[in-house]
Amino acid sequence: MPIIDLHCHSNISDGVLSPRELVARASANGVEILALTDHDDCDGLCEAGSAALDLGIEFVNGVEISVTWRGRTIHVVGLNVDPENADLQGGLGSIREGRAKRAREIGDALSRAGISGSFEGAYAFAGNKNLIGRTHFARFLVSNGYAKDVQSVFRKFLVGGKPGNVSHDWAKLSDAVSWIVASGGMAVIAHPGRYELSTEAFKSLLCEFREAGGQGIEVVTSSHTRDMAIRFGDFAKRFDLYASMGSDFHSPEESRVDLGRLPLLPEGCTPIWEAWKAGN
Ligand code: AMP
Ligand code: MN
Ligand code: MN
Ligand code: MN
Repeated sequence: MPIIDLHCHSNISDGVLSPRELVARASANGVEILALTDHDDCDGLCEAGSAALDLGIEFVNGVEISVTWRGRTIHVVGLNVDPENADLQGGLGSIREGRAKRAREIGDALSRAGISGSFEGAYAFAGNKNLIGRTHFARFLVSNGYAKDVQSVFRKFLVGGKPGNVSHDWAKLSDAVSWIVASGGMAVIAHPGRYELSTEAFKSLLCEFREAGGQGIEVVTSSHTRDMAIRFGDFAKRFDLYASMGSDFHSPEESRVDLGRLPLLPEGCTPIWEAWKAGN
C-alpha cells in the first residue's frame, strides 16, 4: 500500500509551513499521495500542486470546510475539488467573512477578560490575512505567556465556557457537501472521533451526509486511537462509505503525528483513493 496522507494544513489556513514546504516535508517522509486540505480556503493548492509535480508526488486538491450541524461544529473534507468552481469559491468566501467577524468577537471577548491586543496579535500570526482562526489566537496567547502550549491555551481560553469562546454559525452540512460535489470532488467527514456524538446522533449525521451526496469518512487520523479507527471503519462499511486517512498535520512543533506517519486502514475498508483511481 502506498504512503498516503489526505488531510493536512499549510499557512494558508492554520498550519505553519508554506504549501511548498509542506509538500517537501511530505516527500521527505515518503508520502506518495498527498492532499492539502486547508480550512475554508483553496489558495495553497496551486503552489502545493506545482511543488508536488517537481518532487514526483501525486497531489490531490483538497479543502476542509467548517460546518454547523445540530449546533455543533463538524468538519467536512473535500477531495479532488476544483478550486476554480464558482459554487465552491462563493461558499468558502462566505465562511471566511464569518471568520473575520468571529475574530473581532473573540478579540473583544478576550479584552473583557483582561487580554488586550489579541485581535491584532492573531492577525500577525496569520500567513493568509483572509483566513483567521482560533489557532492564530492560540499562538498569540502562547507567545505572550498566557499558556505553555497551543493545546493548553485551547483548554484555558478558546473552548465552550472559557473567556475567548464565542458561538458561531458555519456553513450548513448540505451546502458544504453540495459545493464539494458541484466542484467534482468527494466529501468526507473529517475526524469523526472528535465530535463526541452519541451513536444515534452519529448515525443521523451519516444519513444526512449521505443524502446530501457525501461519500467518505476519515477512519485513520491522528486524533483516533486504533479502537476508534476500527469503530469508524465499521461505520464506513455499514453506511457504504469510502474510508480516508490523513494526519491533520499543522506544525512540526504542535502536531503529534507527522505527515504520512499513519497506521494502515483496518481490514475490509474500501480506500477512497481506489474510488478515484477507478474513475468513480
Ligand atoms: P477554528 O476553525 O478557527 O475554530 O479553529 C479550529 C482549529 O483549531 C482546528 O482545526 C485545530 O487546528 C485547532 N484546535 C481545535 N481544538 C484544539 C485543541 N483542543 N488543541 C489544539 N488545537 C485545537
Ligand atoms: Mn486547524
Ligand atoms: Mn478539522
Ligand atoms: Mn484539519
